[in-house]
Amino acid sequence: MKVVKDKDLCSIKIPVHPFFRKMSVYCYFVDGLLIDTGPKIQKRKLSRLYRSLDIQTVALTHHHDDHAGMVSWLDEQLSPRIFAHERTNLSVDTEIYTGEIQTPNHKFIPISTPAHTHDHVCMLEPDRGWLFSGDMYITPYPKVFLKNESVSSYICSLKELKKLDFTSLYGGHEGLIPNGREMIAEKLNYLESTRKEVVRLHQLGYKDREIVKRIFPRKVRLELMTFGLFSRLNFIRSCYSD
Ligand SMILES: [Zn+2]
Repeated sequence: MKVVKDKDLCSIKIPVHPFFRKMSVYCYFVDGLLIDTGPKIQKRKLSRLYRSLDIQTVALTHHHDDHAGMVSWLDEQLSPRIFAHERTNLSVDTEIYTGEIQTPNHKFIPISTPAHTHDHVCMLEPDRGWLFSGDMYITPYPKVFLKNESVSSYICSLKELKKLDFTSLYGGHEGLIPNGREMIAEKLNYLESTRKEVVRLHQLGYKDREIVKRIFPRKVRLELMTFGLFSRLNFIRSCYSD
């Protein structure tokens, strides 16, 4: 686990799983607010850290365990207010995002951004220009999707993010993303042009697996690591099904 402090913003980086140390998740703590909680499997390390922080409020970007896994522990041990999207389904009672979350020195505006999950939310601190983007951006060129991820929803949500006035982009797996604004635009362009090409091939009668071979001929590590939970086929199908 690595904790980096930049003025009042604290970035907490921890592997999503002790055995898969290459992939990390980031939680952010600022002014009493914890954005995402980290995975339950890292409870030993995270609980020690969380006890040392004055956590008043928790804001979740979405329900996946690597982001929301510690929420039960936080609820039981530290009793903060916990905010989540109205469609987030967890074992603890949460408050639904309605308007901005005010902390002593900051305000945070939840931005509904369904795409990665139906309950995904980004958090904008407008005065400082911080955007906490959860899993909206991991790479500008995704090739694999979860079954329910939707290219069209990504395109809509990325267009919403582009309109926001932010200067620093903090990702859920990347930390501070250099050139965040450009990267959001890059991902949007990539998804739009890839979707167009997939739809073209689909309309020409190509089968999904043939389209995969043409567009993403190389194997993708995440697809292998997750035994196909994330797959190129999911990505291709989502391009023409929504
Ligand atoms: Zn996720």
